[in-house]
Amino acid sequence: MSWRDNLIKIEPYVAGEQPKKTNFIKLNANENPYPPSPKVADAVKNFNAEILKKYPDANAVPLTSAIAKREGLKPENVFASNGTDDVLSLSFRAFFNSDKPIVFPDITYSFNTVWCDILRIPYETVPVDDNFNINPADYKRENGGVVIVNPNAPTSIGRGLDFIREVMDANQNSVVIIDEAYVDFGGTTAVPLLAEYDNLLITRTFSKSRSLAGMRLGWAMGSAELISALYATKDSMNSYPVDSIAQAAGIASIEDEEYFKTTVAKVISSRERLTQELRKMGFNLPDSQTNFVFAEHPKYSAKDIFEFLKSRGIYVRWFNKPRIDNRLRITVGTDDEIDALITALREFIK
Ligand SMILES: *Cc1c(COP(=O)(O)O)cnc(C)c1O
Repeated sequence: MSWRDNLIKIEPYVAGEQPKKTNFIKLNANENPYPPSPKVADAVKNFNAEILKKYPDANAVPLTSAIAKREGLKPENVFASNGTDDVLSLSFRAFFNSDKPIVFPDITYSFNTVWCDILRIPYETVPVDDNFNINPADYKRENGGVVIVNPNAPTSIGRGLDFIREVMDANQNSVVIIDEAYVDFGGTTAVPLLAEYDNLLITRTFSKSRSLAGMRLGWAMGSAELISALYATKDSMNSYPVDSIAQAAGIASIEDEEYFKTTVAKVISSRERLTQELRKMGFNLPDSQTNFVFAEHPKYSAKDIFEFLKSRGIYVRWFNKPRIDNRLRITVGTDDEIDALITALREFIK
């Protein structure tokens, strides 16, 4: 026996590479290619530094109130924290304390398994079908919780309210988390179902549709009971509420609906063009409801394409994982970035 036997053994989540060089095109982390709202820039620039001498509002009430107002909810139905990843890790602790395994698709956000391992939560993954569709019937089994990303990542496929309802009806005895990190890009939100299901928790992020990945802001929506369990968990295990500057930036972002809509529309229109161009080159990809596409080429290996693009200074994401190792996850960039990507791919294919 050695103390080494007691060190944590865990395979951490690996984020998309952040290259050090400056002249490259980064389409590997689903970041937004556009800056945050100019109102966010103003809120940060005009932030009164003196406020920093005090601790932040622990529950970020002005921020959760702004979110609640936008979503047609009450502030007691909203919890804000340092990125969705933080919200999710607190949720796993707050809600998944059963001895039964929690369930989620085999192809989904890879943080799930990392949190289960570190928190010692038993889990089972359920295979998506050959077209990467999640079958709601697979979630009609005993479980200690359900986690579904909708639209799903990295597949880009979104499902409608009937699907969520079917999952909810089959799981009245466990908490169901629907991660809506990408919903703004054309997915269907489960918010209308919050009125019917007290065991539904929906998570959102500022990192994708609101261009604030560097700020670390995310939120959850659910019954007051679930939300207070999240606050209790947070207050028991960490003392880092959302900092005061991030709260101000978040409020400015939520209040600029017009900029939000314009940016999202630009990403969607570039995504449609990218999808068409890729299909013309022979790539297979599902219709995306996200800010990325999930493509494979029947004649070329994804790894080779990935390496070639990298040599051209274009970073996309390739997962060396079963079932998806011949796919590329490509973030929708600006039109110029997409043009450069298409040019490079044409060169590779010929
Ligand atoms: C990007 C992403 C998040 C995390 O977002 P942060 O708010 O940046 O922590 C959560 N879930 C999925 C599926 C994502 O892709």
